[in-house]
Amino acid sequence: MTVTARFAPSPTGLMHIGNARMALVNWLFVKKLGGTLILRLDDTDRERTTPAFANAIQEDLQWLGLQWDRLEKQSERFDAYDTAFERLKSDGRVYPCFESSEELEYKRRRALRAGRAPIYDRAALALSRENINARIENGEQPHWRFKLNHSKITFDDLVRGTVGFQGEKLSDPVIVRADGTYLYMMPSAVDDIDMRVTHVIRGEDHVSNSAIQVQLFEALGNKAPTFAHLTLLTDAGGAGLSKRAGSLSLQDLRDQGMEAMAVNSLLARLGTSEDIEPSQCLSDLASEFDMAAFGRATPKFDEERLWALNAKLIHDTSFGMVADRLRDIGVETATEEFWETIRPNLNKLSDAKIWYDICFADTTPVIVEEDRNFMDQARRLLPDEPWDETTWSSWTSSVKDASGRKGRSLFMPLRLVLTGLEHGPELKGLLPLIGRKRVSARLKGKTG
Ligand code: GLU
Repeated sequence: MTVTARFAPSPTGLMHIGNARMALVNWLFVKKLGGTLILRLDDTDRERTTPAFANAIQEDLQWLGLQWDRLEKQSERFDAYDTAFERLKSDGRVYPCFESSEELEYKRRRALRAGRAPIYDRAALALSRENINARIENGEQPHWRFKLNHSKITFDDLVRGTVGFQGEKLSDPVIVRADGTYLYMMPSAVDDIDMRVTHVIRGEDHVSNSAIQVQLFEALGNKAPTFAHLTLLTDAGGAGLSKRAGSLSLQDLRDQGMEAMAVNSLLARLGTSEDIEPSQCLSDLASEFDMAAFGRATPKFDEERLWALNAKLIHDTSFGMVADRLRDIGVETATEEFWETIRPNLNKLSDAKIWYDICFADTTPVIVEEDRNFMDQARRLLPDEPWDETTWSSWTSSVKDASGRKGRSLFMPLRLVLTGLEHGPELKGLLPLIGRKRVSARLKGKTG
């Protein structure tokens, strides 16, 4: 069997890390099995959906490297939804209702106060045909509910095992609003049928929707697909991630210099018992992917951990992999030596520009008065070029002998005068990159 999965975001906000995780897991699942991934935009909510968000989602997915095989838009599929709705209507699986939202809210509260679950009482099922027709003639617009069978609903879930619901413990869902627009529930099932989706992989917030959709699939003459409901990520404080609550977006992360593969490496394993390691390659993550490794505990997303993974990933990155990107950020003449010297000190790629400028651009150091003689002494002891990795230690040992300084009081003033910073890559690597001319100028306190 070839598998088909879909990632179905609503373009009503920017993608956050939780959305990215669902996209990635769908992608890894189909890549591992050689299947098809559909990007389905759930864009029927005309008020909240915007083309800008739809584009942003596609850009984010491309940035992550998660290419889809087919793009579908719910806004272009109303005919299919109308056909399905007519079928449910003629089969008596939907019924018109006229309660206002205030009435429904009142019923809900009353049920809760009486200690009952707030399940819709099906009052509208008792309306006579005449009553319904009279109301419609009077200008009242019904909304429509799907009539659930009051039987046991079970489905197999690749994460949760066998999941069971009792039909009578669920409210008949509204599937068409009074203004004639569709809610999420039915179009999603119709799409999954028409697009031959074999696996529905999404968040656990959809488990009860799945129970309802199992009955919708059957009512529309089909078998339900296989489900996998992943536990949702929370933030470090345990609160749910949400685009409306302004959770960190992928765009923010990207703008701050995060590597896509750091995000992918974390999200492929977060919530599993497997170790999280930086991976350079999505296809490696796909071949190691195992849906059964996802557990039932709620994984926490910790941004610090993601940045730490990002740094580790950069430290593992070869010059060949970043040469083009370095050029793009103004590190024009970077060499492999330069990259290997600075790489262990980078938290993100763009930091390379700081070290590039330190090595190759003019800077004017500040020399404090009491270090002036020391700097002169050090300058006079500079060996002739060519310089290599041994130059730093031979030079500083002669500076040590001549000045009587050692340890921090020997090395820190030299680091500061040469780089302007207290911390950084090893000076034995930096020194030959900066070169004798600049080193000599900087030791004089001159621009170089
Ligand atoms: N648009 C829905 C969401 O973002 C899709 C759920 C689904 O995968 O069916 O939650």
